[in-house]
This record gives sequence, C-alpha cells and structure tokens, in this order.
Amino acid sequence: MCLTYDDGLDSHLDVAAPALDSFGIKGTFYCTGSSPSLHRRLGEWRALSTSGHELGNHSLFHPCDGARFEWVKPEYDFRTYSISQIKNELYTANTLLTAIDGKQDRTYAYTCSDFKVGGQIFIDSIRSLFYAARSDGPMAESIDKMDLHFVPSWGVVDPSGEDLIKYVKKAEEKGTMAVFMFHSVGGGYLNVSTKAHRELLTYLAENKNQIWTDTFINVMRYVKEVR
Ligand SMILES: [Zn+2]
Repeated sequence: MCLTYDDGLDSHLDVAAPALDSFGIKGTFYCTGSSPSLHRRLGEWRALSTSGHELGNHSLFHPCDGARFEWVKPEYDFRTYSISQIKNELYTANTLLTAIDGKQDRTYAYTCSDFKVGGQIFIDSIRSLFYAARSDGPMAESIDKMDLHFVPSWGVVDPSGEDLIKYVKKAEEKGTMAVFMFHSVGGGYLNVSTKAHRELLTYLAENKNQIWTDTFINVMRYVKEVR
C-alpha cells in the first residue's frame, strides 16, 4: 500500500506527515519544484525526507493539458510543450530534489496524470530519469504485469474513511497493491478530511502484519525484486 501526496502543500507538513508519524507509516510526497511551501519551509521538507518519507518529482512548474483544466497557464500547457522541454524540466526537478535530500533514485508522479505533450506520449522519453512513476487509473489486477513507469493510483476527492478502507480491502482480496493519490489534507482542493485520513491510517496500522505500507519507491523496489 502506498500513500502519496501531491503538489507540495503546507497541509502535508502540518497535517499529513504528523499523522503518518504518529502511526509509524511512511508516505511519498510529490513536491512541485515551484511550490511556495517548498520555498518557505525548505528545512521542514528536508526533515520530512530525513525521517524516512520519500520526496518525489512532480515537475518544476506543474504543466498539464490545458484542454482538460482551465487553470493551466498558456506557458505551462502540455499542448504546446515539447518532449525535450518536459524532459529537461523533470531532469532539473530531480537535481533540485537531490540538493534537498541527497538521494539519487527518484520516482515521478505525472502532473494531472497527463502523459502527452503536443499530442505525443512521453512515457518512454522519461523512463531513464526515474526508478518508477505513478499515474492514475483502476487498481492493477496483479503486480506482475504493471508498467513500473505508469503505476495506477486512485485520486481521492472527499472520500470517507470507509471508502478509503474499502479500497485497501479490495487490494487485499486481489492480492495486489493499491496507491492513494492525495492532495490537500484537512481542507483545500481534492481534499481528504483529517478524520478520513486518520481512519485509513488506523486501519493500516492495526493490520500492519497483513498489509505492508511503505513509500512508493520502496514498494517499487520490492516489485522489481520479486519479478
Ligand atoms: Zn499535481
């Protein structure tokens, strides 16, 4: 099981990480390079990594497909990006994250789960930059056939604790892995409430002998090993 948190938000430092720490669970934080929180609270983001959580690449400027989202600025619209442009951006974001946490292996979370620039798929073009990458989409039927550079996840929007736990149980039944994609925690956009988040963590902690929860990169390392 992987708990991932996108966009480098203050609520990750203030709500999500303290909750994870109180249960001894590690998460993955896909922090955008231009995140204001990263700018203001760099030391706290570094400390997050030192305490065992993962800092992942979520680009520098969070470019997305402007046809899907109104808020995308013209200069960060994937429709007019080139493959070399996104590759350079992700490469530079890797350097930024390494300057923060000293790590070489990095995972990526597709911004808005978009994987095309100017109509061209860039998944293969960025493979060499990352150990693995997270997308969205239905839970994998098994860990055997997953493309580790396009791992599905569930982008939650105001779920109840029960919804979240149900998803974990579904993964248990299938004998596969599940990945949660969170954004705001405890108030904000694409939110998960503090209560629902805590209920999920409580379930994972109570069942830790049956359910392994770890950072995305650690789970990916295991998947590569067992294959
Ligand atoms: Zn994002």
